[in-house]
Amino acid sequence: MAEFVILRGFIKIPISRDAKTPDYKYSVVMGVRRISTLFYNSKDVHFHYSNGTVIILPSKARKERANKSLVSGTEMYDPKNTDSRSKRYWLTNLYRRSVVSVERVFTLVVELGPMHRVYASPDRYIQGPGALERVGPLALQHGKSALIISDSDVWQVVGDSVEESFNDVTTTMERSNFTGECSTSEIDRLTDVASKRNADVIIGIGGGKAIDTAKAVCGRTGEVVGSVPTVASTDAPTSSLSIIYTEEGTFERAHRHDFHPSFVVVDTNVVAHAPTRWFISGIGDALATWFEAKATWENEGRTIHGARPTYASKAIARYSYDLLRENAEDAVHAVNEDTVTESVEAVTEATILLSGLGFENGGTAAAHAVHDGLTTLSGISDATHGEKVAVGVLVQLILEAYPKEEIKDIISFADAVGLPVSLRDIDSIDPTREELLRVGHVACDSEGSMGNEGIDVTPEDVANALQTLDSINESE
Ligand SMILES: [Zn+2]
Repeated sequence: MAEFVILRGFIKIPISRDAKTPDYKYSVVMGVRRISTLFYNSKDVHFHYSNGTVIILPSKARKERANKSLVSGTEMYDPKNTDSRSKRYWLTNLYRRSVVSVERVFTLVVELGPMHRVYASPDRYIQGPGALERVGPLALQHGKSALIISDSDVWQVVGDSVEESFNDVTTTMERSNFTGECSTSEIDRLTDVASKRNADVIIGIGGGKAIDTAKAVCGRTGEVVGSVPTVASTDAPTSSLSIIYTEEGTFERAHRHDFHPSFVVVDTNVVAHAPTRWFISGIGDALATWFEAKATWENEGRTIHGARPTYASKAIARYSYDLLRENAEDAVHAVNEDTVTESVEAVTEATILLSGLGFENGGTAAAHAVHDGLTTLSGISDATHGEKVAVGVLVQLILEAYPKEEIKDIISFADAVGLPVSLRDIDSIDPTREELLRVGHVACDSEGSMGNEGIDVTPEDVANALQTLDSINESE
């Protein structure tokens, strides 16, 4: 049953904007149901929601219209009769995020996403040196025919081991070459291949894009997907997300599937032999997980499931951070030497499994929002996801006003493992104030994860924090 919150109060309406242009975005709640656009006309102010409609009305008409907008049989909550902190938070956020001009009384009908806690994960996770030998037997559990999606560079490294893993099983295996982009046309093409071959299980082997493509193909065919990352560069392999790009490689959208990989296999021999920069990038991505999950938890934010985080996801996110702090430096040295030590095992698990479960079930916040903003900077295109997230998490700590000593401690950790700790560390880029504000605008977009921060963050705040980061580093 849908839940509604009725909020009453004052809002400052930006009347200077063109009434017909839905260009004023703001977020009340992170999750499946959110307000993303404000329309203004002479009579009413309408908020349009991704699910259902939210209306803000001047005081006169509010009762009548509010009643009309509610579906019968739904529950209504009055903030006066509840002590829910989150409802108050949304209300104050409304005040904070509204800009300029006329104050009006409004009644806001907010349709809430589910208030349940959700924990979602792959069925099985297998990690260790030589773990590729498990791929064939795992495929056997899911059917007679397996389609592998992987590019030729990856296949040169792992092809023999994967083929061998199918020697003693009755499941047949075929590979279709992945052309390198998780784009709609590539998903279409591979969906065709999978259907023609009657594949029961699709296995993505390689980096994030090959795995995301395999998930997307399964989303079409309804079969089972296996995820076999050959680098520990992000926390995406366990997740239910596919990041879709255009054929030219520009970000298009994040697609959340209603299933997870049935199995995730990580061969740490392969991970340790991959370029060390990928391994370090994975540490950068995972470094953010605890701080983002903590922010989401404390601010009663939402995860990508539009749900509240569980206690388990909070604990997992925290342990991911602890493992990194204990092991990351040693592990980077070991990977430099192409060796698998216990610290490599710990960091690989922290990066792929714990951070993967932690971000999906614990929530993301400013660090990933800032990452999204950073992708707009020219000169940063060669930086990896994890490198941008590493800068993003430091910005988050500044935004949240962490004590300077703690920020410095995390900076020295990041620096020691080889992560960038300011924009200047990334290809020595030195963006203008205007460019930093553009980063801030994207970071504060209502579609992003900034809404899980308990504080109001403006584009200026983000630009200032990025500059503060430079000055902290200079003062070292
Ligand atoms: Zn990430």
